[in-house]
Amino acid sequence: MKLALWEAPPSWIPYPETSEYLLRIVSGKEEEEKQILRLFQSGEEVFFEGYLICQNGITWINIERILIASPDTAIGPREIIGMMSCPRKYYLEYIKNVGGNILKRPNKNITRGNLVHTILEAVACDGSLQTLSSCTFREKKDRIKKLLGEQFQGKYRMDAALHLLANTPLFDVEKDVINRLTSAFGDDELSSLFTDKTIRSEWGINQISGFSGIIDYLVDGHPVELKSAIRVSPDHILQLKVYLVTTHLEFGIDDGYLIYTTRTTASYGEEPSKIHPFTLTNDDIDQVIYARHQVLLQRNGIIFPDTLGRDCTDCRYQIESEHVLRKFWPACQYYCQTERHWNCYETDDQGCITTECPLLDGCPVRLQYFDIEKIDHFNRLRRAIMAENEEQSRLAHLLREKPKEILQACGQQVNDLRLEIVEKDNFIFRSSESIPCLDCAIGDQVIVSTIDGLRYPGTYIRSGADSVVIQFSGILHNTFFETGATYTLTRDYNENRSMRSLLKVIDFIQRGIHRPIPTYSKGKISDKKNLIPYCPEDVAVALEKQPLSALQTTHQTSVVEQCSNIISLLTRPCRVLVVFRDSVEIKNFVQTYPVKHEILVIDREHNFEEGAQVFGISEKNTPEEIAEKIELSPIIVTRKGFLQTTKFFELLHLPGRRIPFDYVIVTSAEEYHEPQLYSLRNLGTNTLLIGDAFHACPPIRSSEARNLGLGSGPFIQLVRYDTYFISDQFTVFSEPFATLPIQIASALDKTTLDVSVREYDGTVTFVQVDGIESGDENVQYFASMEIKPSDGMRYRIVLTPQNEVPLSRLDEMMDQLSLENFNHLKDGNRITIEEVPFLITGRYPLEKEPESGENAEILVEIPVRFSETLEELMYSNKTEAEVILRLIQNMDPKDRERCAVITPFISQSSLIRSLFYQNNLSDVPVLLPYQAGRISYDIVIVSFVCAGNERILRYPLTRPEVLYTILTSATEKLILVGSGDTLRQSRILGEIIDAPETKGCDK
Ligand code: SF4
Ligand code: SF4
Repeated sequence: MKLALWEAPPSWIPYPETSEYLLRIVSGKEEEEKQILRLFQSGEEVFFEGYLICQNGITWINIERILIASPDTAIGPREIIGMMSCPRKYYLEYIKNVGGNILKRPNKNITRGNLVHTILEAVACDGSLQTLSSCTFREKKDRIKKLLGEQFQGKYRMDAALHLLANTPLFDVEKDVINRLTSAFGDDELSSLFTDKTIRSEWGINQISGFSGIIDYLVDGHPVELKSAIRVSPDHILQLKVYLVTTHLEFGIDDGYLIYTTRTTASYGEEPSKIHPFTLTNDDIDQVIYARHQVLLQRNGIIFPDTLGRDCTDCRYQIESEHVLRKFWPACQYYCQTERHWNCYETDDQGCITTECPLLDGCPVRLQYFDIEKIDHFNRLRRAIMAENEEQSRLAHLLREKPKEILQACGQQVNDLRLEIVEKDNFIFRSSESIPCLDCAIGDQVIVSTIDGLRYPGTYIRSGADSVVIQFSGILHNTFFETGATYTLTRDYNENRSMRSLLKVIDFIQRGIHRPIPTYSKGKISDKKNLIPYCPEDVAVALEKQPLSALQTTHQTSVVEQCSNIISLLTRPCRVLVVFRDSVEIKNFVQTYPVKHEILVIDREHNFEEGAQVFGISEKNTPEEIAEKIELSPIIVTRKGFLQTTKFFELLHLPGRRIPFDYVIVTSAEEYHEPQLYSLRNLGTNTLLIGDAFHACPPIRSSEARNLGLGSGPFIQLVRYDTYFISDQFTVFSEPFATLPIQIASALDKTTLDVSVREYDGTVTFVQVDGIESGDENVQYFASMEIKPSDGMRYRIVLTPQNEVPLSRLDEMMDQLSLENFNHLKDGNRITIEEVPFLITGRYPLEKEPESGENAEILVEIPVRFSETLEELMYSNKTEAEVILRLIQNMDPKDRERCAVITPFISQSSLIRSLFYQNNLSDVPVLLPYQAGRISYDIVIVSFVCAGNERILRYPLTRPEVLYTILTSATEKLILVGSGDTLRQSRILGEIIDAPETKGCDK
């Protein structure tokens, strides 16, 4: 398909001129325009609106204005508005918008605006707005007070409790809200807009054109945004215009309204009004789309611009909020630290200070000493996060073209889902086939699309054998619920929530509004690891004395029990925060810990329980009761996911305490990245980390990100390496495996993994299977460029790398290629770019060289074995999967209940799951190594997917923590299935297979 843009459209084209913005991008004169142009390379997905003409067998689409790059990346109005005014603002909005929240979705802390929104929404939707507007003043006030009271005791009760604890009661907010609402309901101006109309509130934008967001109201299809401000600000207008672009694209609606609780004017001389209509113009569309493209560039590289030349007069980020619970709105000056622009003021000969920075006078950091080491450390982590994000969007890009069967197999897509039921916020979809092993962790973003192409972003909650549970924010389109509709679920790599929340945490630490970063010093190196055998009494003493203690434990022992024992031994009074991995651990802890009234569980996914027990928060509790519970409970228990999606603990201020807790205890500590543990350690005086430093964690896919510091967290470093040093600031305890088969113990013992083993017991069985691995051979990368000298034709040049090629650097490498001499790029030639040798495997003429001069379409075919990430997703082996099925079928049903299957490859996991589903064996769990967390299975069958004759042990089997997790997963019997010859490539596996204690089928 060819897209055409006419500089001067001929008379047969039904529009007189093409958007200037678009032409500017295509001409690519400015650096930014050049970069935007790269977003439209051949092979990339675009969203467009155009006029179609077929001529001589070629379909031409003439584009007038709407051409949107990467429509699969959802970008919201805040980011676009931020980008339009200042890229620093963009970054602040990008980070601020992370995650869900405790009370209400999307994330809203208690503010005047939110309460006004919630109450106005309620009365507009239930039709009582009109009657309220015609009440007497007194009646109105009473009604509003009642509605407000209901909110404080309802949705906003946790926020209200936080305010009570922080000693900032809600009196001011309350008074303000009442004033705003009495003014809003003061006449029938607002109600006239809503009466007798079809109203939808919190309307979720469908993501088809690459925009996301939630529109306050859709009144007869027209977007309406409510504001409680006292004047019409340009940002409000821009927000409405972004929404109008989406309604324009979806329903052809070009006008909407901004509504205010008081009469305001939008421009000088205008009659004040509560309702301000706006109509979308072509210029608005151009600007919004252009800003969206700038956001895409910014997301790729996140660069922080300086303040020079900015108009900061009206920017709310200019000053830091003083409010105790509002510290999350930083002054943007803190970014001068991250980018080190502190040569912001100069003293001239007369001693006068001059500056070009508009923020100098109020800048809180201008005279501060900048700790360069710290800045660089966090910048490195930021780069790691960006590298991981980039790797993931590349992955999405590489996978996009694959047929649906492959996408299904490698955990990217589930087709033909039906909506079964909506329970609370959970949408439960069911399939008539088995659900593949999805490449998703809880909380990851997915896209659910309908058959007519509408796409809605949702959050992955869980999946079963044939069902999957998703949550959506906002109200969905009516057509979404059509009976008989089928849906497709796709993994959305463009929105990487966990990485984005890491940026948020770094941001929080670096702005230094909390305590300094906790560090520890190491003394002399010792020749032996300093691990102290676990004993709860010793751990409790260490926790009380030292800033940092750690407990290396295995899945064979219960962390819940360990936590319970240690906490019972701590000297009272004390305040403890315990962060468990999931709600199962919390439940077990509540059952195990003897003194129930000491515990308070703070973990909320939906509403609180109706009649919660003494250790929980109930739907009936008032904010005062909740505040009291928090203040009086010595042990507060929460979940990792809750910490990631809310700011609850960062906002928690306990009366009379500078640091909220004496002790912080964290389980599954190996899964935390450095910034997260820093911010947790800042919540308490002393910290205890419990986990298994050798266990496989959810994968960090980019090797750059692993090398830059996301590869192993502080707990792993502490247990594996720092224990070789003598220090009086930390102690590491260790609880080794209770049982482990002798051959595994001895094979692992020799490695640097340092697994200590007390007793040897158990059996390992090895099953030899021959079969063929399946999986796509190549992944493809396209680029279009100009290479000199040209002979007037455009060519396709096919390159095959002869070595490992870092996907994240392909763009850069291809830039270098454009400097090559065209004559070198002939079939069979070899060239080297950045030390990677490439073989030219084809050069075909395509057409006459276009005016832009881009005479080469480069196709890089990367053999799959060069791409770690894809391998991990795509490898499977049918014969091996069938062997696993037979092993399970032949197992005693009693044994089957105690059994799990582990495989490191997502496709294999999906294949085995579907075989089990067809044979009614869905009860047997099929897991990836990092999912085989702390649950202990008596019998484990491992599918290595290595029955080919290549004899190459593939990633992730090359990672020691994956082998460790697999080999230590069973307490009684371990059955390894694979090709002996291939597995013997690994010294550890070889020793295990050949050990006399191993029973083997190939021997
Ligand atoms: S204060 Fe100035 S530099 Fe900072 S975000 Fe606002 S406009 Fe940008
Ligand atoms: S005065 Fe403050 S905001 Fe301005 S450049 Fe210096 S550090 Fe940054």
